[in-house]
Amino acid sequence: MDKPIVIIGAGISGLSTAYFLKKQNIVLEAKPYVGGLCHSFYDNGFTFDCSGHFIHIRDKKILSLVKKLSGGVDEINRSSSILFKNTLVPFPFQANLYYLDAKTKKECIDGILKRKNVDICPRMPFIDWAEAMFGKGITKHFMRPYNEKLWSYDLKKMNAQWTGAFVPKPNAQEIIESAKTKNKTVYGYNNVFYYPKRNGCQALIDGISKKIKPLLNEATQKIDIKNKVVWTGGGKYKYSKLISTQPIVELLKQISPLPKNVQTAAQKLKFSSVRCINIGIKTKSGVPKILKGSHWIYVPQADISFYRVGIYSNVNPAMAPKKSYSLYVEISSSNGKYKRAQEVINDLQKLNFISQNDEIAAVNIVDIAYAYVIFDKDKDEALKTINEFLRANEIYSIGRYGAWEYSFIEKNILDAKALAETINRE
Ligand SMILES: Cc1cc2nc3c(=O)[nH]c(=O)nc-3n(C[C@H](O)[C@H](O)[C@H](O)COP(=O)(O)OP(=O)(O)OC[C@H]3O[C@@H](n4cnc5c(N)ncnc54)[C@H](O)[C@@H]3O)c2cc1C
Repeated sequence: MDKPIVIIGAGISGLSTAYFLKKQNIVLEAKPYVGGLCHSFYDNGFTFDCSGHFIHIRDKKILSLVKKLSGGVDEINRSSSILFKNTLVPFPFQANLYYLDAKTKKECIDGILKRKNVDICPRMPFIDWAEAMFGKGITKHFMRPYNEKLWSYDLKKMNAQWTGAFVPKPNAQEIIESAKTKNKTVYGYNNVFYYPKRNGCQALIDGISKKIKPLLNEATQKIDIKNKVVWTGGGKYKYSKLISTQPIVELLKQISPLPKNVQTAAQKLKFSSVRCINIGIKTKSGVPKILKGSHWIYVPQADISFYRVGIYSNVNPAMAPKKSYSLYVEISSSNGKYKRAQEVINDLQKLNFISQNDEIAAVNIVDIAYAYVIFDKDKDEALKTINEFLRANEIYSIGRYGAWEYSFIEKNILDAKALAETINRE
């Protein structure tokens, strides 16, 4: 009998690969549950994701598949903003200067007018790119403080390759106009997004995994590339091809023998971690005024522990019981150390994101060790060396951390589909 294809990981990438593959395969999942970062947790009547997992999709075929697998989704027009000096400035900051105080507005416009005439290139250090793109004022007031919090990394050592679809780039004229009147233009890749009607992001995972039977609690530990064998704590699996969706640096630690140049390349890949604190709140007075209608709010303020807060129950009221609301809070770290949940709740109360009289009914903490891949001068070259080695050994490393990229659910499904179809044709 032919050896099966072994897929490591039952997140959206691993499950999608199995879904589209027409050849015999086995999915090994380290955790006792499926979904990876698309898993949802249920606690005291609240549904929580691993922080907001909202599905933005451009591909029509993938959209109809996601609708079918999720058992119905809502189509939602994004409502997001930046908390700046107690004011909510609509997203993106750089196209909504109208909402700023006069002094900040002037600094932002002066910055745009006095930009240096340089060739803008995504390989520039992020801060230089932001100043060249948006000027010193917008960089000082938003781009620098927000991104320092998000990435927990020296912005001078990071480049701007990740900004692609994620950072809207209005031109100078639009930025200046946005200071005079309220900007009606809609920006960004996720201005419309989709979300399952029931059970959070897990609804999509449950739909896709129905016909796939991943083996749970099966963390791969060792991979013999010569004999094409994977070992978990209790099992041994021979494979014809190996598709891994675990972080590529973890995959390489399991492979033996690993050439020295690949080991050196792996050490060059950097990342930051995120703690997501999910909070369910009982209230007599309703969702706090400042959060009404918002899906998420960016918080660049340095003395506040988190960089973003989302309001699950505003995205879908089914996420919280009656007379309740629910939030996710994201905190980034370069060393896995975070503020305690109580300090985060204090910060939320300080900003009036939780009213003093409301009762905390559920707290659920999700630590995401690999959250954001760092884009620096070493990344592309290191990945090239690693992928050449993996391909030569019929190993495909895909997904957000397998491919070591800044991707999202739609891209993960599309990449998994493309790989499965290539293998189906062989
Ligand atoms: C804070 C944050 C917010 C996000 N918000 C959104 C959003 O709103 N919309 C969106 O589209 N995307 C969002 N994303 C991105 C999204 O989470 C990912 O693109 C997607 O979940 C990646 O899926 P994956 O299957 O590639 O990886 P993962 O979800 O990480 O799955 C990998 C799987 O492999 C398993 N695994 C690891 N090691 C082993 C091992 N040794 N053996 C067996 N199994 C193993 C893991 O347990 C996991 O189940 C967000 C990401 C973050 C960090």
